[in-house]
Amino acid sequence: MAPESEDDGDDDWTKYSDVSYASEYDPWADLVEQESVSVDDDFDDDFDDFDDEQVRPSEVPRCPSPNGISYVIEIGTCDACLGRVSGTRIAGDPLHIAGSRVRQEAMERDPDISVNGDAEYCPFCENLFTDVELIASRISRSIEGIEFSKGQLGIHFSKEHIASEESLRNSLAATGSRPLKSSLTEEIQRIVLEKIPGLIWVKEKPEVMILVDTLTLGVNIDIRAIFIYGRYRKLSREIPQTRWPCRACRGQDGGCEACQGTGQQYPASIQSMVCDPLVVALEGESDAFHGMGREDIDVRCLGQGRPFVAEIKRPRLRNLDFEALSKSINASAGGSIEIDNLRLSNKAEVARIKETKAEKSYTISFVSEHGFSEEEASARILTLHGKVLEQQTPQRVAHRRADKIRKRKVISLDKVEFNGKEIQFRVRCESGTYVKELVHSDDGRTIPSVAGVLETDCEVVWLDVEDIHAD
Ligand SMILES: [Zn+2]
Ligand SMILES: [Zn+2]
Repeated sequence: MAPESEDDGDDDWTKYSDVSYASEYDPWADLVEQESVSVDDDFDDDFDDFDDEQVRPSEVPRCPSPNGISYVIEIGTCDACLGRVSGTRIAGDPLHIAGSRVRQEAMERDPDISVNGDAEYCPFCENLFTDVELIASRISRSIEGIEFSKGQLGIHFSKEHIASEESLRNSLAATGSRPLKSSLTEEIQRIVLEKIPGLIWVKEKPEVMILVDTLTLGVNIDIRAIFIYGRYRKLSREIPQTRWPCRACRGQDGGCEACQGTGQQYPASIQSMVCDPLVVALEGESDAFHGMGREDIDVRCLGQGRPFVAEIKRPRLRNLDFEALSKSINASAGGSIEIDNLRLSNKAEVARIKETKAEKSYTISFVSEHGFSEEEASARILTLHGKVLEQQTPQRVAHRRADKIRKRKVISLDKVEFNGKEIQFRVRCESGTYVKELVHSDDGRTIPSVAGVLETDCEVVWLDVEDIHAD
């Protein structure tokens, strides 16, 4: 019995599940890094002869003074940024409406205002606000057919752009003007909502993360995994818990002769029987299976079954009929497994079930040529009740686990039954106990053991997990 399964090293998406995207985690961090290397060099050079006059001639007051507004118009500020930096009341209007009102008032005041000929772009947003319709269309196109309601929008800017906009805003804009990033985010969200009314924008735990890069106007969609909790009973002694790549071909595409083209060491696993139908039902891309520990292939798992969480990655659909799914999974498993209690779960529960150290009850059957009467043999076996075992890492798992001695308690041991040479008993142990070794002693590496008290070899015939005391 191997103890808890190891973490499979999944990518830690929790890092970006609750990002305040502007300041913290940035999936394009390396892109920014490259940008900023060259940009920073240039910036330092510029900085030496940086002249405040270039940003704001000393006689120009900042917004919302009329001269300040005239000045930001002359340097080519777009309507949306004008609405944002002029200090006007927005009054629930879209930014560009508020801005065009400000522009009109300024022109009425001073018809001579004209935009500098060399102002190619809005100096604040570099014309991003004129691209919001395009960005919103790209977003709605890329999420077409994906079933979700909670979306989070992340917008990536170059550090240089953020810095230059901020310095411009600090010298020209009305006090309290909103930063570019949050204004642009809100504007894009508003337009996307017009196209997709059911969408809810969230700041954490989205079902879909939408990333916009302002350099390329590229849109990237990150569909978050769905987690489904359940319990399985394993009624076969021939299936592993998780997929197991073929030893001969290491699971390569198309497999090999040894695995009859499946790439798998075993034709089916609990993972494949549970997750394959879920991947199909949710139109996912792949899956991971997280069990509360695991049992060996030849061990059945009975009772209430073993808790697990199935993780379905990049699902295009999110609504499930759990009852119907359980039935079809059980039907196609043909009696080798049974699952129930399916419900929605989450990443935190994966951590919880992996960390849970549940006691387990087993029935184990073995044969032994001991020289005692049944009464004497039974009495000797029962002396193990309540004992603390010292178990050196079993030889069968030594290749993947550190060689050390673990102490595990036999909580209870009873129901010793004889059937000729075959003996069975029921035992409840601490999490992580090697139960087969408790019987055969692994060449004396587990002390005490059934083989020890019977003073002869014992050979395990079968083992069942009767219950996992998880609740
Ligand atoms: Zn602008
Ligand atoms: Zn193979």
